[in-house]
Amino acid sequence: MDIIGAVPIWEEIDVVLLDMDGTLLDKHFDDHFWEEYVPQQYAANNGISVEDARGKLLKHYKTHEGTLNWTDLDFWSDELGLDILKLKRQVDHLISVHPFVIPFLDRIREIGKRVYLVTNAHSKTLDLKMEKTLLAGKFDAMITSQDLGAPKERPESWDRLQQLIQFDRRNTLLAEDTIDVLEAAEKFGIRYLVHVSKASSKKPPELSERYYSINTFLEITP
Ligand SMILES: [Mg+2]
Repeated sequence: MDIIGAVPIWEEIDVVLLDMDGTLLDKHFDDHFWEEYVPQQYAANNGISVEDARGKLLKHYKTHEGTLNWTDLDFWSDELGLDILKLKRQVDHLISVHPFVIPFLDRIREIGKRVYLVTNAHSKTLDLKMEKTLLAGKFDAMITSQDLGAPKERPESWDRLQQLIQFDRRNTLLAEDTIDVLEAAEKFGIRYLVHVSKASSKKPPELSERYYSINTFLEITP
């Protein structure tokens, strides 16, 4: 199969769109939070085993995948009877920036690219992550799926993004760890698609057969 997207030709790129979780930040935080920490708290609250809680919650999460509920902290706080933001703060020492991300961001700004964080994360999660990582100043703007009215997997989110920040899809790069989002961006016509294969520091890289994959941003730093 042909690889879609290619090694970025920086002279041709004006706008850089970057996903947050798994792409710039270590997805280990999110995996640990939803798959370990929340089940532990839910089990304690409901008098069931952690195993039972995990099984129940993973099924419950699945039914909301690819929707705005999926990343909505208030939705999950109501659904699970837990203060999700408070729980995130209890394990926020696990929030960390992937290696080589900061020099990459500094370099692309230095050579005059417009840089946007575009995330499905809820605004409260975004705030917490920016508070912990101090990355906010490195973007022209930060846009959440709430701003887009739909998650990035949905075609309408890309139309909305273009209305919001005005970019030429032929001169735009997207870096992202979620294949479904890369597919939506490909359909929309984003020319440079980069798959971040090493989303979590605790898991092996997952190479894409379809998209140009990198382990770290060092590989595409101009
Ligand atoms: Mg991601």
